Amino acid sequence: MAPKLDIETYPGNIINNEFVPTPNTRHSINPATGSPLFKVPVTRAEDLDAAVEAARKAFKSWSTTPFSERAKLLLEYTDAIEANRDELENLLTKEQGKPLSLSHTEMDFALSWLRAFATMKIEDEVLQEDEEKIIYSTHPPIGVCAGIVPWNWPILLGVGKLGPALITGNTFIMKPSPFTPYCDLKLGELAKGIFPPGVVQVLSGDDNLGPWITEHPGIDKVAFTGSIATGKLVAASCAKTLKRCVLELGGNDAAIVCGDVDIDKCLPKITTLSFLNSGQICMLTKRIYIHESIYDEFRNKMVEFTKNNIKTGAGTEEGVVVGPVQNKMQFDKVKDIYAQIEKQNWKTALAGQAEESRNGYFITPAIIDNPPEDSQVVAEEPFGPIVPLLKWTDEDDVIDRANALRTGLGASVWSKDLKRAERMARRLEAGSVWVNSHFDVDPRVPFGGHKESGIGMEWGIEGLKHYTNSRSLWVWKKIFE
Ligand code: NAD
Repeated sequence: MAPKLDIETYPGNIINNEFVPTPNTRHSINPATGSPLFKVPVTRAEDLDAAVEAARKAFKSWSTTPFSERAKLLLEYTDAIEANRDELENLLTKEQGKPLSLSHTEMDFALSWLRAFATMKIEDEVLQEDEEKIIYSTHPPIGVCAGIVPWNWPILLGVGKLGPALITGNTFIMKPSPFTPYCDLKLGELAKGIFPPGVVQVLSGDDNLGPWITEHPGIDKVAFTGSIATGKLVAASCAKTLKRCVLELGGNDAAIVCGDVDIDKCLPKITTLSFLNSGQICMLTKRIYIHESIYDEFRNKMVEFTKNNIKTGAGTEEGVVVGPVQNKMQFDKVKDIYAQIEKQNWKTALAGQAEESRNGYFITPAIIDNPPEDSQVVAEEPFGPIVPLLKWTDEDDVIDRANALRTGLGASVWSKDLKRAERMARRLEAGSVWVNSHFDVDPRVPFGGHKESGIGMEWGIEGLKHYTNSRSLWVWKKIFE
């Protein structure tokens, strides 16, 4: 029987399958109420050293544990999470702010991701074979991997690193964002009863902890998800020890809507994917290019749909799509973009509101009507519920505009003419491109960014290979006398 979690108690970091308290503690807040949540550890450098030592020791046996045994434990772990899913989903809404329905979806994803990883084995490949020799491509694990997790999807992006690291034979140290440490610490607590000591550890801390991890000589790989600015710091820091790093960074995805679409069918999805999680997802539809022949109708219907269906409120309220923005720093950033509406004379199709009118960080959606291409709301990822609509006429021109930025995470084309849409999709510079959809993800499908949206891929066999070294193994059959 999986243990039942007490979500109000955080006795310490999870190191070597023990709770290890720290002399100092901190807490984050519930963004819907502003009230403080529970006390969590503030990791010291020596705590990280202890975790790395335990992880290095555990690596010796975990890396040689058969795939079937690693998969079995990963599935047991998934069951333990599932047994606590209600508590974890409530906790997620409390710490992150997202609607309970979205916490439920995040948990569904997390469970199915882990179960899929447990089936994904990287097989050796025979590159050449003749009478004299056989040459294999093999993929041994790298060693101690660290996962640095952002605050927008703490559960999914935490286990989305943990699963691939473990199934490929690495040991794993997770560092949650200081804004959302609670669910990730509980994931560590559950892991402690299932995996051997040192295989999964979770450390929570302040702003010092990330840089300590990227600099640590005992850590072999960092899997990082977060902003582009921080990603560059992580890459520079990892370079000092030539640590492997995979970076999943910000995006500013274009959705190109062609003139032949059935507006009523595609609009609900495009609109919802502009505002989901209050715009705080790396690959939402953040720039919507609409063919001029349907621009006015699309805009008017999008405004109506948003007014009627995209409700703002606490994540615990029924029917809410836009919960509070997760933290004060992000709230101030989004407020600043809303302040630009007047300063820059942007036309609003829907004027949202970003004011501290309640205790939490609530912002209602805004739709900007055909602003200049170089305006901040088009050129930068707002990470809030505000989206620009832009007009296009010429196919080459709209593709150039979609590809013009330094980001390249996701992009989509919407049309009834699948041939044309696919032709356009193949010209888009992004790690995930969809035709008549956006935001589809799957544990078996690699996910990552082009240009400044990232380096390397997560998920899929390709993503799992990033948790391994590539080893060419030459076996000569002739025995020397
Ligand atoms: P962030 O970059 O501020 O923080 C991410 C993580 O890095 C946190 O755990 C933080 O504590 C840690 N960190 C901060 N400074 C560090 C440093 N110098 N060294 C090492 N670690 C450090 O990002 P965020 O604000 O938590 O997340 C929002 C950003 O993440 C957005 O830009 C979003 O688009 C991006 N994101 C990308 C993906 C993706 O898969 N591509 C997914 C989700 C979010």
